[in-house]
Amino acid sequence: MRVAVISDIHANLPALEAVLAEIDRDPPDELWCLGDLVGYGPHPNEVVAIVRARADVCLAGNHDLGVIGRIGLQLFGGEAGAAARWTSGVIEAEARDYLAALEPQGSRSGIGLYHASPRDPIWEYVLDTWTAARGLEAAPERHVLVGHSHVALEVAVAEDGTQSGGLAPPGTEVPLDELSRLLNPGSVGQPRDGDPRAAWLMLDTGAGRALFRRIEYPIERTQADMRSAGLPEPLAARLEHGL
Ligand code: ZN
Repeated sequence: MRVAVISDIHANLPALEAVLAEIDRDPPDELWCLGDLVGYGPHPNEVVAIVRARADVCLAGNHDLGVIGRIGLQLFGGEAGAAARWTSGVIEAEARDYLAALEPQGSRSGIGLYHASPRDPIWEYVLDTWTAARGLEAAPERHVLVGHSHVALEVAVAEDGTQSGGLAPPGTEVPLDELSRLLNPGSVGQPRDGDPRAAWLMLDTGAGRALFRRIEYPIERTQADMRSAGLPEPLAARLEHGL
């Protein structure tokens, strides 16, 4: 089975459209989304409607849970909190109901799916091999997908505990083999690994491999809509740096 994996769209419609157009050039069997559909960006209702129509599996991220009131908005600092409050004010009932039915973890085809990490599916950031290895120990699945950090990452742990991997720039291809492995596709709508292009991951479970992908999108369209919505300027500015 071929699966396109997306995560951390953050209400960035131009980024989501660019990724889906690329995915549709060679349509996979399924589309999985690891959460954070909303928060930060200006298009929450449009993004939720598209994911709702297209994703075979979708997790809830911390921003989704904050916007629907399942976790307190006081847990979101500064600009993230301001954007979450803005999103709560504009999100429509249909989108809210969809987000309210999602959970921050799941599994599909034997692969563990966690918004943040297996140890803490809502909040833990997995940004290094040590934390990834602890997560793999905690997960019942051999292969695990996470989002949340907005950094494309691949970490493998061998039976003897040897860890390998790290940042996964576009074009990185890893095997899905007997090693325990944690993959983060990176973020569609707010990359933080220095590459401002929208990130996604193509999995081929039959062939046993995963390929990290990146695609350009019109960042200035998202920034213009953020500025007219009155969202915090630093959130718009950071998109062009991918940080
Ligand atoms: Zn996120």
